[in-house]
Order: sequence, then C-alpha cells, then structure tokens
Amino acid sequence: MTHYPKSQAILSENSRYIPGGVVSTNRAVDPPIVFERADGAWMWDVDGNRYLDYHAAFGPYVLGHNDRHVNDAVRRVIDEGSSLYGSGTTKLEGQLAHMICDAVPFVDSIQVLNTGSEATYQALRLARAATGRSHILKPQGGYHGWHNDVACNLMTPLAKLGPRRVADEYPFETISAGIPQEHSSLIHAINFNDLESVEAMCRKYPIAALITEPILQNIGIVHPLPGYLEGLRALADKYGFVLIFDEVKTGFRHALGGYSAVAGVAPDLVVYGKAIANGYPLAVIGGKKELMDLFVSPDATKRVLLAGTYNGHPIPTAAAIATIERLAHNDGAIYRDFETLGQRMQSGLEKIFKDAGTTAVVARQGSAFCTYFMDHLPVDWHDLATHHDTEMDAHLRRELLERGVYFFQLPMKQCSLSAAHTEADVDQTLEAVEDVLAARLQTVGKR
Ligand code: PMP
Repeated sequence: MTHYPKSQAILSENSRYIPGGVVSTNRAVDPPIVFERADGAWMWDVDGNRYLDYHAAFGPYVLGHNDRHVNDAVRRVIDEGSSLYGSGTTKLEGQLAHMICDAVPFVDSIQVLNTGSEATYQALRLARAATGRSHILKPQGGYHGWHNDVACNLMTPLAKLGPRRVADEYPFETISAGIPQEHSSLIHAINFNDLESVEAMCRKYPIAALITEPILQNIGIVHPLPGYLEGLRALADKYGFVLIFDEVKTGFRHALGGYSAVAGVAPDLVVYGKAIANGYPLAVIGGKKELMDLFVSPDATKRVLLAGTYNGHPIPTAAAIATIERLAHNDGAIYRDFETLGQRMQSGLEKIFKDAGTTAVVARQGSAFCTYFMDHLPVDWHDLATHHDTEMDAHLRRELLERGVYFFQLPMKQCSLSAAHTEADVDQTLEAVEDVLAARLQTVGKR
C-alpha cells in the first residue's frame, strides 16, 4: 500500500495556520497528497510517488504540465518587466481579445478577469442590468463558482431532491452557509435536458438569465440531448432572458470556440477559464456587443462596474495567448489528436468493464471522459443520483491511486487527457483499471 508520511506531516503542519490545511476545501480529499513537481502528463509528490495525471488540477492543463511554449511566453514577460498593467493597458490584452473574437463567431468583444467565479458573477450582473430583472435559473448538478448567485443545487442528495419534477420548482439547496434568504429566493434550479422545467420557471418569474454549462462537466460528462441547447436558445428569445454558457471547463478544451462551436448554438454571453491559459489564473467574459458595452455605458444608471487590480495581468495574459497559439496550431490538429486518444481510452475502458461483467458506461467528449457505474448515460443530476454506484466509483479511484494513476478522489470527477498524454500512457492506465477489476473480482469470489 502506498504511504504518504511526508504529505501527512506537511498537511498537519499547514493545518495549524490554514483551516483544514488546504486553500480550497474541494482539495481536502483522502489521502492528502502534497505535490512537489509536475511535467507533461506526470506529477510527483513529496513522498516520491509518481502519478499519471488525469485530474489536470480540475481541468486547466489542456497542454499538459509545464508546457515549454507557455513557459517561454511567461518568462519573456517577466524579463521585460511584468508590472505594466495596473496603470493603463497593454498590447497583450488587445492581442488576446482579438484572438478570441476571431475564434468564436458570436463573441463581439471580451473582458479579461482572473477566475471563473468572477466571470460568472459579472455575466449574471450584466444580464440583470440588461433585462432589469433579478431571477436566475441554473441546472441541478451545475457548478458556476462560489458566489451567492450560483452556490446552490450542485449535488442535492436524492432524499431532499425527491421525485423527478417536470414543471415545478426544485428545492433550493445551498452549498454554502451565509447566503441570505433574500438572495437565494432569486435563484431557481432546473433540470438539465428538461426544457419544460425551464419554461415553467419562465411563466412563474421574470428571469434575467439562465446560466448553464453546455455539457455538465461538474458531475462528469452529461451531454445535452439533441435539441436541448437549441431549445434553450429559443426559450431565451421567447422570454427575453440572457442565455449564458459557462464554458469555464468546456471552453478551449473541446474546440477553440468551446462546446458552443461544436454544438452550433450561440449564447448571448459566454465565460471561459481554466484551459484558456493552461493553468495560469485567467478568465474571460465575452459575447454580444450590446451586452458587453454595458461595462462602459455613458448612462451611469446602466453602467456595470468592471474592476479588478489584477485584470489582464501580463503573466496569465501571455500564458493565454501562448496556449491559444498552441491549440490553434496546424488548424486545430490537437483536437483531432484528442479525439483519437480519447476514443482509445473509451473503447479500452468499455471492453474492460464488459469483460469483467461490470455495469458501466463511459461518457466522453474529445479529451474528457468519465465512467458512470450505471446502465445508461445520465441525462441530469436526478438520473445520476438515482442510478450511479458511487461506492464502485470511489473504489476505482482509490485503487488507481495505489497504481500511480490519478483520477482524483471525488466521485464523478471527469478525467482529462492532455496534449502530453501518449498512447502508451492510455494503455498503462487501461492495464491499471483491468488490474483493479480483477483484484475486486477475486475478493468478491473469496467471500
Ligand atoms: N464554472 C465552472 C463550470 C467551473 O467548473 C468552475 C470551477 N470548477 C467555475 C465556474 C469557477 O471557476 P474558478 O474556480 O476559477 O472560480
């Protein structure tokens, strides 16, 4: 069994000064691992254990860790003197904006922020300013950051969720204390892939915005059913709400234009983060000119406050430009490679589960994949909560960790391949999965 004595010692020392010992509570998983170094597809911890990484730090490392092209761009900016931002503007901001507007047809202009949470916050505020309405819709199982407008209804336990509701209000389940009731009464949960639940809310409340990931990637990979995203677009037009696609996880991971480009559905606003800067802290809000221009409205009563000391900081901005250059290289060949490698992983996993007689399905979009231990691909959180075997999910993740494969120790977290992963890495991973299942069968057989 792998041991983590140094990791444990560092965590307990950190815990004296940092509540829980980690700086994001989602990272407080068991066993605690203190990482020391990462390169390409691999990570090393302080105890000398080596891992093939599929977590990608919750998604950003689309090119792999320590990418040379990105690092060089960052080094150049440091050498030139990086404190060029807070007093005015830089060429880099414009260059990044130009690249994104060129890559995404429905984005007329962008603003540059630091984190995905800031970007979703600003998108919702723009929507409220534009519509003069306050109510917001978001799907069960969707995560859009930690702020009051969205910190609700991620993985509501089935007992509280109750039976599937088609055209009624879902219970508001906050994922954080400290959200005032006055505030939470403005947020309503809908079911992903359920247009009726959206329309019911529109009839009941004046909706400012619906925010959703185009693929639910915070509960694995839950795809939109055919017509769902188009249906959201039509409802937004019918009821006059702002459609926001949160592409913090899907943007630049599945295509340069994000999953919106893959699906061919244009939201009014979009937000990007994570993969856009391959691990450096940068997020973007972009979309229709009339909405984005509210940030600079000459009418002070309509103007939306845009501020942030570190917005457009040259280091992450240069990293984002370099990342997009790499992703766009050779007409986006990287995405075709992702498809090939992802397909190898998916078919390999499917065969292993079938041969072992394990009920499982593998959901995948390009480089991102997730195994659900159920007999069909889930359509929403309710479906998952009802059918997915989380115990088997946890078992696989725990056992893979022992074998040096890092899927991350939280159920339903999707895995991400990067440009640094190879066929040999995929095959090694498949062998490890096969080994876990064989060992489990043996244990079950002995009982
Ligand atoms: N939206 C989505 C879809 C996310 O997955 C996340 C982070 N997991 C966020 C927003 C928030 O981004 P950040 O952690 O950078 O604030």
